Amino acid sequence: MDEVEPKDGADSRLPASNAAANIRPGHALPFVAPSSYLRPKTKPRTISMSEPTPMSPIDEEQIQGLKGLRDFLKKRTSYDVLPLSFRLIVLDNDLLIKKSLNILIQNGIVSAPLWDSQNSRFAGLLTSTDYINVIQYYCQFPNELDNVEKFRLSNLREIEKAIGVHTIETVSVHPSRPLFEACSRMLKSRARRIPLVDIDDETGRETVVSVITQYRILKFIAVNTEQHTSLLKKTIQEIRLGTYKNLATCKMTDSVLDVINLMVVHNISAVPVIDKNNTVLNVFEAVDVIPCIKGGAYDELKSTVGEALTKRPEDFQGIYTCTEGDRLESIFQTIRQSRVHRLVVVDDDHKLRGMLSLSDILKYVLFHGEEGDYFPPS
Ligand code: ATP
Repeated sequence: MDEVEPKDGADSRLPASNAAANIRPGHALPFVAPSSYLRPKTKPRTISMSEPTPMSPIDEEQIQGLKGLRDFLKKRTSYDVLPLSFRLIVLDNDLLIKKSLNILIQNGIVSAPLWDSQNSRFAGLLTSTDYINVIQYYCQFPNELDNVEKFRLSNLREIEKAIGVHTIETVSVHPSRPLFEACSRMLKSRARRIPLVDIDDETGRETVVSVITQYRILKFIAVNTEQHTSLLKKTIQEIRLGTYKNLATCKMTDSVLDVINLMVVHNISAVPVIDKNNTVLNVFEAVDVIPCIKGGAYDELKSTVGEALTKRPEDFQGIYTCTEGDRLESIFQTIRQSRVHRLVVVDDDHKLRGMLSLSDILKYVLFHGEEGDYFPPS
């Protein structure tokens, strides 16, 4: 999610699809399907991957579109992505983790850069993954609740070590470097956001200018490059975009703790909530954990996914769906118009088919067809 900038006024709430009728009362959230309003439904074309076929006009356009997008990302800098005015909430590393949670909630944000005030240095990014690590620590050492209450943000690395998780390297980039470089560094480190760090001319010290997220970058691309994204006419099935196998799913009645565990095991930040017929009801996201542990209420993690989803902020935008027959062009149109953080791929009966994340889209835009540079999802 994108959280350090002010709310994006350009985002509009889109009409819900009929499938919303399947959602249980209390979890009624809008579903938005690009295929339902962006273009007439067509049967997804099947393509043979075995035989080399001459390049079709649609392939040529796709390549031209991708080239246009990459050139655009090489000409623009991270500074260009920043709105004219924005706020940046930086948290002192010495703050109690418990307090940091309240600050995030009060300010409607889900991540923040950390500042080591003793050494006047940027100290990494606080994200929902850190809270998930604290929860794992609490689960592994349930007798340590008193300590958990006393942990400070500076203890986060020790928590990672204690539970044996791999620390995500915090890469940063200078704001005036090409945006392509920022995207590339972010994707290669598997981070979902990248801090823009400059050096203060007077003090020679690091200064965090802002943090840009995948969401913000894709929004920037979608809003400014319609001439290129409109060329991306291949369907997500044709370009095999997203994940369709070994999907992690949950039920409304599963406990929040179980779903957190799924996220950790699969290294993902969203789990679709389905019913016994595989119909998509909702999506539990890593950020949904934050309100659950507000005020140190770790016991609430034993409550159900259904209960946790009722704690979402009032301005929650809903979840977004697409079908395998949707073109990347229409996905970009949805990103242009809405606050999309991922799309659940469904069939015509709203049954779960796959997950399309922002990192899948960004990786495709940057690296598809580039030899040796297109790495598989984690
Ligand atoms: P974020 O949403 O936090 O910005 P992201 O865009 O990388 O990060 P993730 O949900 O973490 O999104 O997805 C990482 C990878 O895992 C992607 O390739 C995505 O297709 C896949 N994925 C997403 N959700 C699931 C799921 N429930 N089961 C299996 N794979 C998934």
